[in-house]
Amino acid sequence: MKEEFKKIGDETHYHMERCPFCGNQAELWEHQLNESAYRKVVMCSNGGDGLNDEGCPMYMPPEGFYRATKTDALNAWNMRNGTYHDDPQGEAA
Ligand SMILES: [Zn+2]
Repeated sequence: MKEEFKKIGDETHYHMERCPFCGNQAELWEHQLNESAYRKVVMCSNGGDGLNDEGCPMYMPPEGFYRATKTDALNAWNMRNGTYHDDPQGEAA
């Protein structure tokens, strides 16, 4: 068994909100668990530099963002974003 990630789209292909944490572009990936199991996930493109900068937490999103279909994965990402932006910040604008 070999796990693989393959990029299958970005915001020029699909409607994707920008990352709620860092504002970077989001990307749609296919995650292959094994020969017959595929999942889709939207991730932030900000992976840091591998040295001092660890990148964005959404570069490796939590398990809940992995979905069976592109649509579900996109919805999970965009809804997460909407929730984030709608959260009251507790500070006057
Ligand atoms: Zn990010």
